[in-house]
Amino acid sequence: MKIKYPPKVSLAQLPTPLQPLDRLSEAFSFPYGGPRLWVKRDDLTETAMSGNKLRKLEFIVAAAQQQHCDTLITCGGLQSNHCRATALVGARLGLQVQLVLRGPVESAAALDGNLLVDYLAGAEVAVYPAAQYQRELPSLLRHWQQHYAAKGHRALCIPTGGSDRLGLWGYLSGAEELLSDCRQHGFNPEHILCATGSGGTQAGLALGCYLQSAEILVTGYAVCDSAAYFQAKMRSDLADWAQHYNAAPIDPKRIEATVNDQYMGPGYGLAEEPVYRTITTLASLEGLLLDPVYTGKAFHGLLQDLQLGCYRGSKNLVFVHTGGHFGLFPHRQNFDFLLN
Ligand SMILES: *Cc1c(COP(=O)(O)O)cnc(C)c1O
Repeated sequence: MKIKYPPKVSLAQLPTPLQPLDRLSEAFSFPYGGPRLWVKRDDLTETAMSGNKLRKLEFIVAAAQQQHCDTLITCGGLQSNHCRATALVGARLGLQVQLVLRGPVESAAALDGNLLVDYLAGAEVAVYPAAQYQRELPSLLRHWQQHYAAKGHRALCIPTGGSDRLGLWGYLSGAEELLSDCRQHGFNPEHILCATGSGGTQAGLALGCYLQSAEILVTGYAVCDSAAYFQAKMRSDLADWAQHYNAAPIDPKRIEATVNDQYMGPGYGLAEEPVYRTITTLASLEGLLLDPVYTGKAFHGLLQDLQLGCYRGSKNLVFVHTGGHFGLFPHRQNFDFLLN
């Protein structure tokens, strides 16, 4: 099906590579043979702006420009990849960026990882304690929007992770690209897997597969929040997309997406030693760098599930590497085992 896309600003280096992880597949001789593992390198969308958020931002900033906005406001954790990508995109396009970040406020003094890049990019940073952020996020965003309006600016508010009907286009087109990569390699994957943090990547991938009539199950490994939460969030974003763009007559309930919430560990941004060990394994076996907040956790879950036989019968699995490299460094203290 031919899809009519809204305008986008081209910022990502596309298409990203699709690569097999044969040394890994070989090292883990799964009990039943096991599928061939592939990775879609969306960590390579750009160097500094790297990761999945750039695909969404391409559409979001095009809308901001159409609406004559000169300022972007967005929100997330102190080490948010989405905020870092937005800060750099704003710098690149000459838009001011205001970030609303979730504390702890005292950690904001340590310029590390994504937060360091936010400052390098010249973004304005406001940090709030987690409890206040959770309670007041909508009013905090309104406050900043009014603050810029009072100074004669026009600001677009981008929701958490850029996950709304506009951001959905990023992975709708990402799915088209991925399926075309797979065809070029001569296969149709049975499963696509990714880390799920605000649901937009997974919802876009699932919608893309559905619109292409590809019988592929898209599974998200939740890094925070429950499967039920993400199912509801994706369904409402997809319904909003369908209604607003009056695109294909889709029934969001028919767009199948599985969320696995068994591997989120202690919570967002917190991981246990097996995740750090999986990150080490992928780096040493494949030269592939994962992050502890998203891709490391999700890939760890995938490896556990493969060992449990969850993907029995499938021949090719594609893991979407959504980026997150800068988030690795603030977790340095969790890699002490490498020194022993
Ligand atoms: C934001 C993010 C995700 C999750 O994507 P969502 O669309 O928010 O679910 C996964 N991986 C990385 C590295 C991210 O920054």
